[in-house]
Amino acid sequence: MTQSQPQAPVLQVSGHCPTCDQDVEFIANNAWFRDHFLCSRCGSIPRERALMAVIDAFFPQWRQAVIHESSPGNRGASVRLRQECTRYIPSQYFPNVETGDSVDGIRCENLEALSFADDSIDLHVTQDVLEHLFSPSQAFCEIARTLKPGGMHICTVPIVNKDRPSVVRARVDKGEVVHVLPAEYHGNPVGDGRSLVTVDWGYDIGRHIFDACGLYTQMVKMDDLSQGIRAEYIEVLVTVKPVETASFQPIP
Ligand SMILES: [Zn+2]
Repeated sequence: MTQSQPQAPVLQVSGHCPTCDQDVEFIANNAWFRDHFLCSRCGSIPRERALMAVIDAFFPQWRQAVIHESSPGNRGASVRLRQECTRYIPSQYFPNVETGDSVDGIRCENLEALSFADDSIDLHVTQDVLEHLFSPSQAFCEIARTLKPGGMHICTVPIVNKDRPSVVRARVDKGEVVHVLPAEYHGNPVGDGRSLVTVDWGYDIGRHIFDACGLYTQMVKMDDLSQGIRAEYIEVLVTVKPVETASFQPIP
């Protein structure tokens, strides 16, 4: 009997992991890097490392900030934020639970009806959540309302439609889910383990956010193997609530 040889990785590089902040190996045993290009130490995937790198660059004061993360994961940026930010507030969405209430010590927040006060959050974080909302415009309004002036919403969301317009896959009508396009699901750490995709977003997502809440969004696309950041659909969005709009002067 011959012992099978272990398969060589599709990609293996040394680098510094933004989420565990260590020198590590990044190893992919599958060509779909988005889910399989892992940090050898913390197990993070590329979009989580891209998100953390963007938070470090755009919001370096995050350790002292009031951070709300909707539906955090158990690895990557969520773990880093929880460990190093003393005012980190994780929440999950549980249907049929009042927003702001707790279930087994876990705070329930509905992004479309947040319980936070106006101007109370420095940084909202969401990772692959916006493609599962039935009223994303309402969520953009709630995020804008609760951000402090100068605050940011930094998120990942798969921009699967790229330069094609965003389209609704599923909506709710009189309490019933209506599938406009064939039902598609992503994994979900809570509930029945799956989450319906409601919107296929395109690069026009920034316009949808602006039309909903008046805030501008920058999109950051990274490709940096030294940080283990290479994959499809790992754009990071940075939406900023201005400190003061009254003093804004147009540049001729
Ligand atoms: Zn790591």
